[in-house]
Order: sequence, then structure tokens, then C-alpha cells
Amino acid sequence: MSTINVAIDGPAGAGKSTIAKMAAAKKEFIYVDTGAMFRAIALHCSRLNIKAKDKENIIKASKKASVEIKYIDGEQKVILNGEDVNAFIRTEEISQMTSTISAYPEVREILLGLQRDIAAKNNVIMDGRDIGSNVLPNADVKIYLTASVETRAMRRYKEQIEKGYDVSLENIKEDIEKRDYQDMHRECAPLTIADGAYVLDSSDMSIEEVVEEIISRIDGIK
Ligand code: C5P
Repeated sequence: MSTINVAIDGPAGAGKSTIAKMAAAKKEFIYVDTGAMFRAIALHCSRLNIKAKDKENIIKASKKASVEIKYIDGEQKVILNGEDVNAFIRTEEISQMTSTISAYPEVREILLGLQRDIAAKNNVIMDGRDIGSNVLPNADVKIYLTASVETRAMRRYKEQIEKGYDVSLENIKEDIEKRDYQDMHRECAPLTIADGAYVLDSSDMSIEEVVEEIISRIDGIK
């Protein structure tokens, strides 16, 4: 039996994970956050004090990292060398490092097999940057989810303030712009609108509206 694959790509802070998680729960699909996998590799290298620009050592260390995905109560957990690292991969430092190291083709290759394997075995909603264009080019539904940079920065800012972090809106906006630029301009698997992708700009949409739009596309698969 073939599985249903939904690809959601888009820039940082567009709400991909919140929306993918909700849509996956409604459809009883598995939600796969591929950014978390790249973040785990970045954390591994950061813990070894390897600089993101040190390509050779990043590649060497990445090949030795063990990255697994587990689902506990429906939540994806990223397991790095046997340790659940979910709590450590969302800092701004790791975000930037992830964006730099994920441009190296050798690093992407390490995760590609794992991502395709999960999608071959399960109905998935997978989010990332190159899912519709590269990881699952035959996905049944492809969404490119975006929003204005101001909207995305403001959402991130509110999230961080709620968590009690002392952050500036201006810095968050700059970080997002820098990361998007890197992700869109790298040679290997850049962020682009995949062939056949439906572009959804969520700037003026509620979370529920975006989720409904995606569900209706899944329900419309022939
Ligand atoms: O989605 P998230 O913001 O967690 O992704 C972190 C970084 O990982 C992105 O900025 C991007 O550089 C990288 N990434 C990627 N390909 C994916 C998912 C994430 O290059 N499929």
C-alpha cells in the first residue's frame, strides 16, 4: 500500500511546524520536522566546538552523529547519540549554525535516506526547505507556506517573550532575513517553490484557516 506524503516548505517562522502538527493530528498522519534533524547535527558539532565554516570537520563529525526520530505521545523527539535533544536545538546560535552547515551536500545526504524512509513507511506531513523539490518530489500535496518578514519576526518575538527570553524584535528580524538568504541562495537543495506547489501566504490568515486549506487539499487527493 502506498503512503500519502504531504510536503510543506517555506522560510523561517512562516508557521510550518505549528500548522503541520495540527494538520497531521487531524488526519492522523505523522508529522516530520526535518529542521530538527539538521539542528541536531548542528548541536552535535557545536558541542565538539567545531565552527560552522570549518566544512571538513563539520562533515567528519556529522557522519559520526547518530540522529533518530521517535514519537512519544504524538510528539516528535530528535534523538542525538541516544539523547533527547529537543530542549537544546532552538537557540538562535543553533539556528544560524544549522543554516550554515545544512548548505553542505554531505550533511544533507546523511539525512536524506532517513527522511525518505519515514515517508515511504508512513502517511506524513513533512516540513522543511527542500521537501517538495528534493526529498519527496512526488509528494501528493505540496505547499509553500510563507508570510511577510515582519509577520514572521513578530510571531517569533512573541513566542520568545512568552518563554521569558529577553530578545529584540530588530535582532530577530535580522536573524530571519540572514537565514532565509542563506537557505534560498545555497547551491544544494535551496529553498524554492517546488514544481506543483501551492503557495499559501499566511500573513492575513488565522492558523485554523491555513490548517483547513491544507486539509482540504489532502482530502482532495485523487
Ligand atoms: O525549520 P527550521 O527553522 O527548524 O530549520 C532550521 C534550518 O535547517 C533552516 O534554516 C535550514 O537551513 C535547515 N533546513 C534545511 N532543509 C530542511 C529543513 C531545514 O536546510 N529540509
